[in-house]
Amino acid sequence: MPEIYDLVIVGGGPAGLTAGIYAMRGGLKALLIEKLAPGGQIALTEIVENYPGLPEISGAELTRLMEEHAKKFGVTIVNEEVMRIEDEGSSKVVKTNDKDYMARTVIVASGAKPRKLGVKGEEKFVGRGVSFCAICDGRFFQNKDVCVVGGGDSAVQEALYLSKLARKVYVVHRRSQLRTEKITQERAFSNPRIQFVWDSIVEEVAGENKVESVLTRNVKSNKERRISVDGVFIYVGNVPNTDFIDVRKDESKFIITSDRLETSIRGIFAAGDCRAKPLRQVATAVGDGALAAFHAERFIEESK
Ligand code: NAP
Repeated sequence: MPEIYDLVIVGGGPAGLTAGIYAMRGGLKALLIEKLAPGGQIALTEIVENYPGLPEISGAELTRLMEEHAKKFGVTIVNEEVMRIEDEGSSKVVKTNDKDYMARTVIVASGAKPRKLGVKGEEKFVGRGVSFCAICDGRFFQNKDVCVVGGGDSAVQEALYLSKLARKVYVVHRRSQLRTEKITQERAFSNPRIQFVWDSIVEEVAGENKVESVLTRNVKSNKERRISVDGVFIYVGNVPNTDFIDVRKDESKFIITSDRLETSIRGIFAAGDCRAKPLRQVATAVGDGALAAFHAERFIEESK
């Protein structure tokens, strides 16, 4: 007989690690499967300032603390990639690149990955000026000019981070309003190194062997503008990592859940950024993880 876990958690970001802590404390036999290193996208964030109790902490340190916390309660973490989850009624089969795991319940906390712009030059210059991670690549642009694309929290926060390294940071946004926390907006507006390029989209990333410029177009006037930059940081939202599971999703592939965070398959729950919800933050991911583990535990009790 194969080993049956009470709970298999897919993903080791804040939602998955929190689910692990709650599951272990609830006495469940749980396994957490993470493709890479724990932490998810928050591990690549310079500073987190809105997680209660920790007024200023680096994403890497917060991740380290969460992983240490989960391991303290005995969460087993394996590094494999989940390829598919199959529903066999009272048990679920989680198929990874290495083996199959049987579970009574599953929490999908697989997060999201950066969305691409899909413009000419974007793919070609990845690693040669195009980046999706300022904290990983920002140091290559010391005293150079860079551009950030997007108008959300990620774009503006990363523009602020890059302004400490780069000479000038252009923020190219398709509207004239940001969807960023007010405090972050004010910091960006008063930063002399940040210049906003409003109502504009990037049409092309250009260069010879590395990025040399971006071609933008003002969506109101249709006027094109070539801006000389050495780096382009793309922050235009996220695409959820949900292809490996067939459950009900919204039009952007985020998983739709009930109030119990249950998906359209009984016994399979979703938590964190892969779930359809209005606010994606560490605080809400942690809340999701706790709630999903609580309901998984209840589900097991009720199924006995
Ligand atoms: P987001 O909030 O979805 O913002 C994406 C931005 O990219 C928007 O400004 C959007 O423009 C723009 N955009 C989308 N597609 C585009 C395209 N094809 N071309 C040009 N621009 C495009 O994504 P995010 O900033 O990565 O944030 C994701 C979630 O994480 C959010 O819930 C956010 O609040 C959260 N987050 C929080 C923090 C924090 O708490 N400090 C930090 C980072 C992220 P429009 O505005 O016109 O739609």
